[in-house]
Amino acid sequence: MIGLTALLTYLADMIASDVADVWKERVMSGWSRRSLLGSMGLAALGQTAFASLPKTRTRQSENLKKKSLPKLALEDYLPKSMLHVRETQVPRAMFPVIDFHTHLSWSGRRGQKTEAHNNATPEEVLPVMDRKNVRMMVNLTGGYGAVLDETINYWHKPHSDRFLVFTEPWFEKIREPNYPQFQADQITRASALGARGLKLLKTLGLYLREQITTGPLVKIDDRRFDPMWEAAASHKMPVAIHTSDPEAFFLPTDRFNERFEELNAHPDWSFHGKDFPTNLELQEARNRVIARHPRTQFVVLHVGDSENLGYVSDLLDRFPNMHVEIGARIGELGRQPRTSRKFFDKYQDRILFGTDAVPRGDDTPQQIFGEALYEIYYRFLETEDEYFDYAPAPKPPQGRWRIYGIGLPESILRKVYYENAARMLGLASL
Ligand SMILES: [Zn+2]
Repeated sequence: MIGLTALLTYLADMIASDVADVWKERVMSGWSRRSLLGSMGLAALGQTAFASLPKTRTRQSENLKKKSLPKLALEDYLPKSMLHVRETQVPRAMFPVIDFHTHLSWSGRRGQKTEAHNNATPEEVLPVMDRKNVRMMVNLTGGYGAVLDETINYWHKPHSDRFLVFTEPWFEKIREPNYPQFQADQITRASALGARGLKLLKTLGLYLREQITTGPLVKIDDRRFDPMWEAAASHKMPVAIHTSDPEAFFLPTDRFNERFEELNAHPDWSFHGKDFPTNLELQEARNRVIARHPRTQFVVLHVGDSENLGYVSDLLDRFPNMHVEIGARIGELGRQPRTSRKFFDKYQDRILFGTDAVPRGDDTPQQIFGEALYEIYYRFLETEDEYFDYAPAPKPPQGRWRIYGIGLPESILRKVYYENAARMLGLASL
């Protein structure tokens, strides 16, 4: 039937068009008269031989096509899966959870003053935690100086069994001659205040420059930070480090970029061109830091390079003081479920649960703190459901694909949800 329809369309084209032109096009496209006749013969026999029809069409048929198929903007395309597959609800995690990667607050400028901005109140967050079986949230962006005091007083002090706070480096001071020792002393101070770890944003490697916002980029393995890494080890503070970003962020934002829509929505996330190092250069600099400070425990956030689990596996084999956290990367892990499952099996003692949750983080749907977010993570880790959304959003925000659950056994879930983080944070086992 298809063959016959295509044949009729083709013949209509021939009659309606300038025949000489059509033949010229046919010859140009390498399609011989013999194959035309052959196709016609097969079509007459009711077979679908028109797979071999030339791609070149006449102007008339192109025009017809344009009229019958309206153009659809990529942003308006919302295909619904027609798969009939199991949909498992996982309202609570199988074991209590430590969410190792959240942003309950951040440091913001008001005039000359840096102050703490809370994205929510503990009273808003705690009921969600209780319903989702989240025992502890680690607020990584606790800041430094007075902001750190404020943040610890707001989140940790009144609920010390539910919220922990990490500190961050005081990068604005990097130009000062005594910065290396100053920064190490700040870690000591943060530890005394109750901070439980050190967080490095991707600022180091991608934003911080010699004159803060101008000049050459400061390298991740810059020697000025050596006393800071050592101080973290001395105070048993794990270092949560975000280095680099998805590989597609380092490529042109064009039609071949698998994160085109995400980069289009956040053009400042593109690190293509200019003086940016490559994804690999950034990671290699971080690796040199991990190698140089074997006493320091590093939790590489976002799995490090979640598109390349082979590379991450090599690093985990090389560095016993390296661990990974999965926040905002189940979109990557879940589209390679067989590789991911093997990765979790092999490194089950070194993978930490995290979501990168931001209360009211509306411009990054994969991070909006709430029940829906946790349910997706639990579904990914606990079930073997197929082809579901990795973010609570009508459109996959990090790339146009869906994910598959990896159905981890209880023994691994217990470690990933709780035990691995508890060990690093000095908390009691379950
Ligand atoms: Zn984060």
